Amino acid sequence: MSTSVLVINCGSSSIKYALVSEHRKDRIFGLAENLGSADARIKGITTGGAELELSIPHADHEKALETILERLAHHNPQAIGHRVVHGGTLTKAELLTPEIIERIRTATPLAPLHNPAHLVGIEATMRLFPHLPQVAVFDTAFHQTMPSHAYRYALPKFLYTEHNVRRYGFHGTSHAYVSERGSELAGSFKKGGWLTAHLGNGSSTCAIWNGQSVDTSMGLTPLEGVVMGTRSGDVDPSIHSFLASNLGWDIYKIDKMLNSQSGLLGLSDLSNDMRTLIEASEQGNEDAALAIEVFCYRLAKSLAGLSCGLPRIDGLFFTGGIGENSAYIREKTVAYLPHFGFNLSQEQNNSLKRGTEGRIDAGTGPQIWVVPTDEEGRIAKETEHVVLEQVNTSAKKSDIETVMA
Ligand code: AMP
Repeated sequence: MSTSVLVINCGSSSIKYALVSEHRKDRIFGLAENLGSADARIKGITTGGAELELSIPHADHEKALETILERLAHHNPQAIGHRVVHGGTLTKAELLTPEIIERIRTATPLAPLHNPAHLVGIEATMRLFPHLPQVAVFDTAFHQTMPSHAYRYALPKFLYTEHNVRRYGFHGTSHAYVSERGSELAGSFKKGGWLTAHLGNGSSTCAIWNGQSVDTSMGLTPLEGVVMGTRSGDVDPSIHSFLASNLGWDIYKIDKMLNSQSGLLGLSDLSNDMRTLIEASEQGNEDAALAIEVFCYRLAKSLAGLSCGLPRIDGLFFTGGIGENSAYIREKTVAYLPHFGFNLSQEQNNSLKRGTEGRIDAGTGPQIWVVPTDEEGRIAKETEHVVLEQVNTSAKKSDIETVMA
């Protein structure tokens, strides 16, 4: 198959899309946003890097997908790959069948903000393009190789056996891509022990041994772990009873506070955006400076903790908007890991610009690399793999049927 895969990531009022083709270096991509409102529109980049802005007033997911596909039809996509945040215990990307769709629905209580939006997108594309093979690629799947001592919580057993309460981990496509690409750059493709730090508006860390996730910072939901743009990361779980007893808050208010009003935004009382915080801190804003410090310290603490899952540490990969762009955050984080022998090259670190991959250690100690993530590329690759597998299986089936006849 000469592949051209349409990658779709449906949010509650937005759809990110990208057409990933083997033969095209320049990608066609875009974002349909404000869906359901008068201000609904598609913004993107078309062939040759031209900009697109299209108003689609009151369009819903289905209408937006129809418009996107109409515009891309002449590129002849052969499959659609959907990013799905929670796949429950599914261990790999899956061809979308009624059974797999039901499994995504069953995992909804574990990702109440994400999975319902993905299902809206999946159902719309299935209606619109019933002839195209469609695949779900799960953020959780890469972490299904974690051992039970990494994924179990110290909670009553029945919560795990009867209600699937365990650590799942997220950002799997990014950690998988970055660790694969990074280990390839380091000359030891999918070999050895690596730590990844995916630092964007959502952030997580991962420990990878011989290409497999052995532990990660996010848990049952994407709230656990390091400090994020608006998410708290780890807090004492008794915060719920404390706030309920002392401030009379209900569970929804607490949940909203932890997910949308905490993290960098909560600490700084200014912004969830790292660039804004770095600028403010340079101008003397102490809350912004503290938010950055807590972010880097807790990130380093998470990486140090995850290192317990690795027989040895070959190196560390930074990725995501912050990890790829901020030499300052990389330097501060590495400075909080004095026991690991990392030796950052200031010159190399400062020289990397957005979208460039490169090594930033001084040549002694574990390696440090910046590896720009490519979640769309990874989703397209996994989609292609699943579709080819299906084609091969069907071919074998028809061989058997011919022989039987
Ligand atoms: P992402 O979610 O991966 O798009 O990353 C978004 C985050 O990356 C935001 O917090 C941005 O402020 C941050 N970011 C982007 N460029 C820079 C930069 N040059 N320096 C620091 N943070 C940056």
